[in-house]
Amino acid sequence: MNPRYLALQALGSNRRLAVNGLTANSNISESFGKQVFNRAVMQKMLPREVYKNLVNAIDGLEKIKPEFADVIALAMKEWAMSHGATHYCHWFQPLTGSVAEKHDSFIDWNDVDQVLEKFNGKQLIQGEPDASSFPSGGLRSTYEARGYTGWDPTSPVFLWQGGDGMTLCIPSVFFSWTGDVLDTKIPLLRSDRKVSDAVMRLLELTGISARFVNSTLGCEQEYFVIDRHWRNLRPDLVLSGRTVFGTASPKGQQLQDHYFGSVKDRILYYMQDFELEAIKLGIPVKTRHNEVAPAQHEVAPVFERSSVAIDHNLLLMELMRHIAIKHDLTCLLHEKPFAGINGSGKHCNWSLATDTGINLLDPTDTPENNTHFLILLVAILDAVHKHSALLRASIASAANDHRLGGHEAPPAIISVYLGDELETILDNIEKTGAHKRTTSKGSYDLNIPITPHLTRDYTDRNRTSPFAFTGNKFEFRAVGSSLSPSFPMTVLNAIVADSLNHILDEIYENLKSNKSPSKQELAKAVLPVLQKYLKQSRHIRFGGDNYSHAWEVEAKKRGLPVVKKSIDAFEALISKSSIRVFEGVLKEQELKSRHDILLETYSHTIAIEIRVMIDLFQTQILPAALKYQSELASSLALCQAQVAASHLKHQKSVLQKLITAVEKGIETCDLLHKKNAEAEGISSLEKQGKTYCNSVLPVGEQLREIVDELEGLIDDSLWPLPKYREMLFLI
Ligand code: ADP
Ligand code: MG
Repeated sequence: MNPRYLALQALGSNRRLAVNGLTANSNISESFGKQVFNRAVMQKMLPREVYKNLVNAIDGLEKIKPEFADVIALAMKEWAMSHGATHYCHWFQPLTGSVAEKHDSFIDWNDVDQVLEKFNGKQLIQGEPDASSFPSGGLRSTYEARGYTGWDPTSPVFLWQGGDGMTLCIPSVFFSWTGDVLDTKIPLLRSDRKVSDAVMRLLELTGISARFVNSTLGCEQEYFVIDRHWRNLRPDLVLSGRTVFGTASPKGQQLQDHYFGSVKDRILYYMQDFELEAIKLGIPVKTRHNEVAPAQHEVAPVFERSSVAIDHNLLLMELMRHIAIKHDLTCLLHEKPFAGINGSGKHCNWSLATDTGINLLDPTDTPENNTHFLILLVAILDAVHKHSALLRASIASAANDHRLGGHEAPPAIISVYLGDELETILDNIEKTGAHKRTTSKGSYDLNIPITPHLTRDYTDRNRTSPFAFTGNKFEFRAVGSSLSPSFPMTVLNAIVADSLNHILDEIYENLKSNKSPSKQELAKAVLPVLQKYLKQSRHIRFGGDNYSHAWEVEAKKRGLPVVKKSIDAFEALISKSSIRVFEGVLKEQELKSRHDILLETYSHTIAIEIRVMIDLFQTQILPAALKYQSELASSLALCQAQVAASHLKHQKSVLQKLITAVEKGIETCDLLHKKNAEAEGISSLEKQGKTYCNSVLPVGEQLREIVDELEGLIDDSLWPLPKYREMLFLI
């Protein structure tokens, strides 16, 4: 029988709903952080002095004192073993874009050769995985294989459940023997420090006290879920995470009945299961709903400081993949698993907050004093304007290219949406150099010369903008669903720090030696600077429909980078302005290495997809087509013995159509093979990437069109690959 039909049968009989009885009865407050070495556990298990040192390290205020490391390690081991852990690992984020771990057991021997469990401060603080097989973009040759992992105390240690055991995972950074950065976390932490330092200057100017500032991040994660049987029959999904062939389902997302629709039971069991595991890992998952496309969903945790939110996002994606298998499902995190319907993004909600809990992008948090809000806003506009090409590069990938500019996805042109109310305020400053009183909605505090008093929901929503202010945070929507948010957030922190410092330099210059300016004096020093920067950055502000063609034309007129293809975006990473803005975050050589890795990954990704296409066409599609062709031909031959040829006109044309498509398919597949081999042989990374983009991919697209046509011609029982209508609707 056709394997699809077997899968269909299995779908009915094998369906497991609840995996464990835990899910339904679990109570969030009891389960939250159970698998985390959190402050409560630390406080209970560590001497006071050590606890204080560790908490200060978590806040980035102090280093771990070396003499405390053994005590901390011992407490971690005791705690981990009480939960059944046998191993530990340094958990880090190499430049592959995902996470890595190398497990070591707690095994050791005492003087009389007895085995015991041991874990000491040295093992906690530093590890030495062989770095030679991780990408370094030319930073380190293979014979200099030493790479080190170092404990990052700012992110909580946790227990990962896998197989039948638990592993103590120690979030870590990763660097080479020469001190070069080999991960995505070190730059993120550095950029966070950089923006924190700049914002502390701002707070000093505006009279808000805080010990430190962090960037905050809340990721809305979109994903698809389909039955695992379908995925197992699709080598393209298995190997590249997206379908390279597949004709549209007769019903897609036209009726828009999936968005916020009631979640199917089987999916709900799955969601509950992975959410519970997330809760145990201290990931504050909050929101879940169906997304626009069939089989598409979203999960969003409550925001946290960005370094932790990023760890949590990576862990959550891992959990989602992992738990899906237990439910006979598969979780697709690719940006565009299915052509013709919505792709998946990861909306990165970003803001800056003080240790005292003030959200610096929420003017209602400090209604009497929010000068900082206006300055910060202008700094962000300036940063995005000056470095929009860099931001575009930070979200570039072969996978995201399928999504950007497609169905309901932000376009590849970076612009900022602020909403009418803010636009009016900024326009006034820009034109007149003054903060004009406005009575609209009566929502502003007009007693202060320059600071608007805004209510939280004053902005409208503009779903089409890639970078939108949503009342108390910015939402960077161009980030792809499978991408680690780390690099885009690093870029955002670094560019905002840079622009803010420039603006503050000029404001301080205007104030000269006036250390405690009155409100009026402050306004006099601030407004002209804001006016200047607003004028410079005005082109980045856009409130219209980002999906329209008119915007593309307009953006070009405004001189904004319109970079449709990722392959043309990467070079912004190594531009002069990027190298400068990354000072203190990544060295030029390190940026160059990232650029090279991104290019390499880009080409590899496409090469894999192309090889899957060729393989599928030759070994599955073509044999099915030939079989059907021969059936049609013999049927025609039989009929010709019975009736005159003129009665078989239409049947002949069906056969003719098939023959033409098969011929075209073989020819195109051969061409694809040739083009792919040519691209594979190119040694320059840039040239290779461009060749894949401009010369290989278009032929791949042609092959797809032919195969999709064949899918509509051939006997259903002969078609080998699960169809869109099955994968998207049968669960
Ligand atoms: P939406 O309407 O776009 O779905 P939500 O209000 O549901 O927006 O929030 C989306 C995400 O933004 C959530 O993860 C939320 O925690 C996060 N978020 C809210 N406030 C902030 C903030 N100050 N900094 C970063 N993220 C935030
Ligand atoms: Mg959103």
